[in-house]
Amino acid sequence: MSLQPDTFKTLVKAAAEQVIASAPELTALDQAIGDGDHGANMKRGFEAVLSKLDTIGAQPLDEALKSIGKTLVMTVGGASGPLYGSFFLAAGEALSQHKSLPENLADVFGSGVNAVSARGRSHAGEKTMLDVLVPVLETLKTEAGRPDLIERIRATASESVERTAPMQATKGRASFLGARSIGHIDPGAKSSCVMLHAVCSTLEERT
Ligand code: ADP
Ligand code: MG
Repeated sequence: MSLQPDTFKTLVKAAAEQVIASAPELTALDQAIGDGDHGANMKRGFEAVLSKLDTIGAQPLDEALKSIGKTLVMTVGGASGPLYGSFFLAAGEALSQHKSLPENLADVFGSGVNAVSARGRSHAGEKTMLDVLVPVLETLKTEAGRPDLIERIRATASESVERTAPMQATKGRASFLGARSIGHIDPGAKSSCVMLHAVCSTLEERT
């Protein structure tokens, strides 16, 4: 079994559209503990991805992921652009190294997560996107093969977003606020959740 190109294209389209639709919410979250640009940054990046969807969809999966990564690096800006860009570039690189989807999903996703961590010099617990990406990776590793894997991923992502609220930010702009960052959800954790939920919903519709 392998991930079909048309399924991949549908997943990318759904994730991009959901990110774009969530821009006002992402902006509001970033206004509370950052500079208020996360929604606009992500919207710009994923509009660029959508504009290249036919080209990206026609590429082999590894190259398609790298194209998404490059597009995000070039268009998103802020801290999140290079971080999400690294995620997709590294995931594509992992697929080029004889990995395949969905069999090696945890490995491929894990390569993306490691790349974010390396580029951001950050790890889970610092109130960033990693506070969603790392728990979801854990779910992928521990619950692989379970019939309710998609539901588990969806729930892990939602719960993980909520868990960023009591955290104090130690990375990124929110860290400048010190203890005043406590009590707010991290914008990047939310955007990661939005993408993951879009992927989960699309996969559920297809199966
Ligand atoms: P900027 O902070 O430059 O304005 P964005 O607003 O687009 O960029 O993105 C902010 C998000 O980026 C944060 O909510 C956080 O999730 C993520 N982020 C920032 N710095 C790091 C880091 N070092 N490691 C992981 N994620 C980070
Ligand atoms: Mg910002």
